[in-house]
Amino acid sequence: MTGLSDRADIGSNLSRIQERIRATEVRYHRPAGSVSLVAVSKTQPPAAIAVAAEAGQRAFGENYPQEALAKMEALAHLALEWHFIGPLQSNKTKSVAENFDWIHSVDRIKIARRLSLYRRDDQPALNCCLQINLSGESTKRGVSPQQLVELALAVAQLPRLRLRGLMAIPAPEREFERQRRAFRQLRLLFEHLGKWDLALDTLSMGMTADLEAAIAEGATLVRVGTALFGMRRR
Ligand SMILES: *Cc1c(COP(=O)(O)O)cnc(C)c1O
Repeated sequence: MTGLSDRADIGSNLSRIQERIRATEVRYHRPAGSVSLVAVSKTQPPAAIAVAAEAGQRAFGENYPQEALAKMEALAHLALEWHFIGPLQSNKTKSVAENFDWIHSVDRIKIARRLSLYRRDDQPALNCCLQINLSGESTKRGVSPQQLVELALAVAQLPRLRLRGLMAIPAPEREFERQRRAFRQLRLLFEHLGKWDLALDTLSMGMTADLEAAIAEGATLVRVGTALFGMRRR
């Protein structure tokens, strides 16, 4: 992944993804620049991340705390922004709280309390999104829509967390309108939370195969791995 052709690929892949995002913003009357990109670098080596960073990418998403920590150390000089997007076990909350800028996968209050407890006072509050389990979703992870308001109000009270919005990983669908349907559910939940004055600003939804549908439904942040780095190593 450090060869010359790999470097060129990551650079041109990044431009192509940025073009997809910008074109979709225009098509769906989203303000220019309202959708940001988190580059999902799980399983990719530090050298690949460094190439993307050189091409201008700042935010990276990781799923495994231990793997991520090694990369953060190797790339500390680049001052990147790190997003934890994987499932979180409670014995890993300290390491995530201390080392990441964002977490997208908060789905229960116990985890949120631990994250807030371990976030150091000399760090800014940890940005977090609540992961929602939409109906028909393949994974069992995420809070149910019925329990969302209760969780959101509790998380919003925690001193060292900053609740930013919602995240989901809908079951894969090929057809655009079917992709949109799941993202629309997430957007409606987001709008529903607006009643509680929580100042949410983030809808984390859309990946390589469905980012256009997510942007059409209001995504503010898309998480893209394969289209940037190619197939994952495991
Ligand atoms: C792996 C992963 C992605 C990226 O998926 P691609 O299809 O490779 O773009 C996005 N979000 C989460 C939560 C992931 O685990």
